[in-house]
Amino acid sequence: MSHPNDPTLRSFIDIDPASNFPIQNLPYGVFSAKDGLVPRVGVAIGDYVLDLCELDQDGRLDVGELGVFAAPSLNRFMALGPKVWSRTRARISKLLRHDNPDLRDNDELRRRALVPIKDAKLYLPIAVAGYTDFYSSKEHATNVGAMFRDRTNPLLPNWLHIPIGYNGRASTVVVSGTTVRRPRGQLKPPREELPSFGPCKRLDFELEMGVVVGQPSPMGEMLTEQQAEEMIFGFVLLNDWSARDIQQWEYVPLGPFQAKAFATSISPWIVTREALEPFRVHGPAQEPTPLSYLRQAGANNYDIVLDVGLRTPRMNEPQNICRTNFKYMYWSSVQQLVHHASSGCAMNVGDLLGSGTISGPEESERGSLLEISWNGTAAIELPGGEKRTFLEDGDSLTMRGWCQGNGFRVGFGEVEGTIVPAL
Ligand code: CA
Repeated sequence: MSHPNDPTLRSFIDIDPASNFPIQNLPYGVFSAKDGLVPRVGVAIGDYVLDLCELDQDGRLDVGELGVFAAPSLNRFMALGPKVWSRTRARISKLLRHDNPDLRDNDELRRRALVPIKDAKLYLPIAVAGYTDFYSSKEHATNVGAMFRDRTNPLLPNWLHIPIGYNGRASTVVVSGTTVRRPRGQLKPPREELPSFGPCKRLDFELEMGVVVGQPSPMGEMLTEQQAEEMIFGFVLLNDWSARDIQQWEYVPLGPFQAKAFATSISPWIVTREALEPFRVHGPAQEPTPLSYLRQAGANNYDIVLDVGLRTPRMNEPQNICRTNFKYMYWSSVQQLVHHASSGCAMNVGDLLGSGTISGPEESERGSLLEISWNGTAAIELPGGEKRTFLEDGDSLTMRGWCQGNGFRVGFGEVEGTIVPAL
């Protein structure tokens, strides 16, 4: 039997080569159909969602526990562990193959189990247990350091030794398509003597990937590279919305707080770690060599093309404002997870780890408006003559990501959010 990642596999469902969801992908999400089904777990395949709840009721998945896919999140399925994740993906792949009649020729089951994606409402795919955000792109940290500290020595002394991060808010992680209200907060521009309270004037996005943790680790224990890797269920696109003016005043000395707490958007489909396996690459050389607990033997980065589009209310189509790649990240997701648990911090099923803003070496590869507009000094020119330094009300931001295979794309779909005015 061929592996679900076999590039020669075909489904009996017609799939466009530009689709993000070929049979080699099979990302998990939570959806309901227009006819009033309660939210449940599904897999994206071409222009359809495969209803795992229906397949399971039909005895086709056998994960060893009832009702796992009838849940409004993937947490119960994730808790079953990597062997079950892998076995289930292989079963789904087999059911969708062009040469397997089991589902292909069963009209009644097909009608129940395949829902056109355009008729599906998509939900947050996990109950987010905790949200941690890292700061692991050397290019991003260098740009920010050059802007706010020292152009000749932009990285702080700890940066090359620690995957820097902070504990964010799980309560305001939302799924793609959720509007984002402009936050209010304390603002103190450098020329003012005292702070005032009001709507953020420097609203930004941050292009990130999110790691979905699918297995727990006990309080008081450290993780090896291999243990950390096996805990990773999959990845999503993540927009870590940021209020730069609130951030600038509040972040000393404890780091980001309200500037990052008002919204974090993620894409609805979790692409499994297993589906990304063919796209693994080595990250940049790490110099100085990390401390021994952080050293990694594996190629723990992934070649994922990322792009960002901005559309103002006057534009019909988004304008591309960034094209970069996840492979540039200095600290890998595995190193982030190892470091996160290294003090004895327990990890939970459903924890979400943001990679940190993903910027690349070129100007066109900057993953935030802070960098693209160089702290508001260089406006982006948009078709129709509009200009932007930061986001305005009504602006819509879309991030997309995919791995390019030979004749197919293992993609993430998109994460979109539109800004609505402050209350
Ligand atoms: Ca961030």
